[in-house]
Amino acid sequence: MTLTEKLLARAAGKPGVQAGDNVWVNADVLMTHDVCGPGTIGVFKREFGPTAKVWDRQKIVITPDHYIFTSDSKSNRNVDLLREFVKEQDITYFYDVIDDRNGAWKFDASKGQFVRQFGSRYAGVCHSALPQKGHTRPGEVLFGTDSHTCTAGAFNEFATGIGNTDAGFVMGTGKLLLKVPETMHFRLEGRLQPGVMAKDIILHCIGEIGFDGATYRALQFDGPGVASLSMDDRMTVANMAIEAGGKNGIFEFDAKTEEFVNYRTRLNCTKQSYEPVTCDKNEKFVYETVVDLDQLEPLVACHPDPGQRKTAKELGSLKLDRAYIGSCTGGKTSDFLEFARIVRGKKVVLDTFGVPATPEIVRDLQTTYWGDQTIWQVLVAAGVQMTENAGCAACLGGPVDTFGRMNTPLKCISATNRNFPGRMGHKESQVFLASPATVAASALTGQVTDPRAFLS
Ligand code: SF4
Repeated sequence: MTLTEKLLARAAGKPGVQAGDNVWVNADVLMTHDVCGPGTIGVFKREFGPTAKVWDRQKIVITPDHYIFTSDSKSNRNVDLLREFVKEQDITYFYDVIDDRNGAWKFDASKGQFVRQFGSRYAGVCHSALPQKGHTRPGEVLFGTDSHTCTAGAFNEFATGIGNTDAGFVMGTGKLLLKVPETMHFRLEGRLQPGVMAKDIILHCIGEIGFDGATYRALQFDGPGVASLSMDDRMTVANMAIEAGGKNGIFEFDAKTEEFVNYRTRLNCTKQSYEPVTCDKNEKFVYETVVDLDQLEPLVACHPDPGQRKTAKELGSLKLDRAYIGSCTGGKTSDFLEFARIVRGKKVVLDTFGVPATPEIVRDLQTTYWGDQTIWQVLVAAGVQMTENAGCAACLGGPVDTFGRMNTPLKCISATNRNFPGRMGHKESQVFLASPATVAASALTGQVTDPRAFLS
């Protein structure tokens, strides 16, 4: 069996499954957020009754993160609806925006967008927050009401996005009927060269198979090249499995996974036991390819298709209006470090926005020094508009006052993951997806730029 088949067989209580089987799967964690949470709760109450209790109050994780730092009152209200439900159900893991359990969330526009407005429990973008807060464990099944839930496949678990109806059902029963996906095999060999990042791996893979090339399939990443990838790198790759239509992305378990998960689960006092799955010799794949990491170049996925891949060099004459670094794909500490390495001591010529994915990343950037400057100060000195209000921000557009949102038809190079029309705001704006390094280099020149031009 493939890694995904092994995970689903275990979660279904069966000795084995194969692609195409329909199986009832037990969930280990259900995650929801401010956009889909209220809808999921509505389905749960409608189907199970107004006084029903969730299947397991310790297995539901609620992370408001999408439309948070906005004056839009309906968006603010969604956070309050989550809080009310958490109180009613006594749910253990709720990463609220505010500290007052009886309060109401209201964004204060008079304080501006730059200074933090969240309380001590807020955790930021769900897919980055889940691992940081100790909710991703090898061998488990994670369902989330968000398509990029597949990010957690980096931790050797089956993680996939589901809709509100399915999530309402999981909330009540802890189970879901799933068809076992076929598996596509991406064997990674070699090592990324300077200026090339994990984002380039996944842009390459999607470019090879197309934006629908993995529809309802698992993308399995293994091979000797994985060892050189950090957990952040693996998350970046797994995150965009959905951009090829994938059901999930999955990595092998190794010492790095173990170290990360053990540290995070202990730190947060979450469940510490887990059982990884390992590769079999006789796995059956529907597609197999080798990705030579040494040969990869900085890539860009052109608007409006994440599979429309070109090298940054090829696009060199394409003029841009804006640069953006952030999101569950490109807003991690390691992403900002790579970005900062390139813009350090220089000035961006584009309107450039930086949105860390989580408060912990804000803290990392504000407490890590290069000489006498923090990384945060390096970025600000280079002209990057950095907000402390970690979250999804303009990655998916959001209300009109969202930080970094494109309210006019601009061309943006972005470290995010999706570039469909209107994704980051105005429906005629254009989004070019690239690594943080390529976004940084492009922000310095005003046009798509291969970051290797700035490496000394
Ligand atoms: S950062 Fe973007 S892709 Fe990630 S969860 Fe938020 S909106 Fe979705």
